[in-house]
Amino acid sequence: MWRTSQSMDHRRVALPHNGHRTGVPTVEVGTIVVCERQAWRVLEIREKPEDLWPEDYEQAWQTKFTRWAEHETARAAGEVTSWRAPLEAWSEPVRAQWFHRPVNVVLQQVDKPKSKPRHLLTSVSYEWQVLPEHYVVCRVCNELPPCRHMETENTVGREMAEADRLMSIPRGACLGCGEAITSRMKATRFPGPNLWRPDWGTDTAVFHARRQAECSNAVWQYEKQWKERGLNVLNPTLPDGNKSEPTEGDQVM
Ligand SMILES: [Zn+2]
Ligand SMILES: [Zn+2]
Repeated sequence: MWRTSQSMDHRRVALPHNGHRTGVPTVEVGTIVVCERQAWRVLEIREKPEDLWPEDYEQAWQTKFTRWAEHETARAAGEVTSWRAPLEAWSEPVRAQWFHRPVNVVLQQVDKPKSKPRHLLTSVSYEWQVLPEHYVVCRVCNELPPCRHMETENTVGREMAEADRLMSIPRGACLGCGEAITSRMKATRFPGPNLWRPDWGTDTAVFHARRQAECSNAVWQYEKQWKERGLNVLNPTLPDGNKSEPTEGDQVM
């Protein structure tokens, strides 16, 4: 689930029995909350009248209540647990205090005070991300950071940095850490085309077989892609499954 990077503040609505202890900060009328990458001002918070609960909430409540009723019936009949202890008494659930009960929350976009308010129905225990009065938006698209453009840019940036890293690894070195693999080191070699350095030719993808995160994570990632391409089917004997404990035969120069 997307969250804006500028706030760690999460709160539940200011209604009793919201599943939270009392005394912690809550969402009130006037609070700025995040919804669908935008900042909204809370205009109203209202309990949903019990006879107007939507079907899914109603059913969830009925399930909860039925479970309680069945338990108490069993207890009254003298049933015991599988280890022969008497059943504990469960207090009867109270519909108006159920912390998954539905509430109406009315929101309006902070920067558009004339826009049409939006009516949402959520659980009273929903955790809203809360923004301070001086929050930040992207100058270009007006979304809260990270906006969709920033997310795309970050992904592209990461991919380019990864391509640069791979291209700088000398032939025959570990595609994880980029360091040489000596004849005394154990290594995992993947047969078939080299997915990360196709220019090295076939049977050249090789990694240190050690616990170091750079090497072992790379093996894990490579193996995943290798299997996705069906290369483990084409090369059924290697290395599949023994990457953490390669045999002598897996050693390479
Ligand atoms: Zn943007
Ligand atoms: Zn390595």
